[in-house]
Amino acid sequence: MRSRSDHSSNRIGDTASSVDATVCENKFADVPDAVRRRMSSIRKTGNKPEMSVRKVAYRLGYRFRVNQRNLPGTPDIVFPSRRKIIQVHGCFWHQHPGCRHSTSPRVRSEYWGPKLARNVSRDIEIRSALEAQGWAVLTLWGCELGDDSSLEARLIAFLAA
Ligand SMILES: [Zn+2]
Repeated sequence: MRSRSDHSSNRIGDTASSVDATVCENKFADVPDAVRRRMSSIRKTGNKPEMSVRKVAYRLGYRFRVNQRNLPGTPDIVFPSRRKIIQVHGCFWHQHPGCRHSTSPRVRSEYWGPKLARNVSRDIEIRSALEAQGWAVLTLWGCELGDDSSLEARLIAFLAA
């Protein structure tokens, strides 16, 4: 079964590949706005993958805080008593290495490239800052969240360690 997060990521990929497949001057010109609208709507509702992680963590009995502002980068899910943090990253926005969902739309790469590069370097800085404060950080990617049972296994392996 495909998760909602996976579905939204796929839509990014589908959009990019349909652009490539139907190279037509007019359509091509129309795509950037459509892609941009889609991206911004994903960003606003980008907490869906995070919600699925929270749901599983809660069901397993782990208690956590979300979006804790007093920590570097306002981490997504914080397990204070275990000194552990889970960051849930969308594959496109955070450029999951080697993931097909991380492919930028070919159009307007001059617009997206720098933004995405900033996201990636910011993620690295935040992780270092958290680790420097003694937090263990697990990054989960949107494409990895389709299967609740493997997600459970990963959460247990990380949180119980
Ligand atoms: Zn991915």
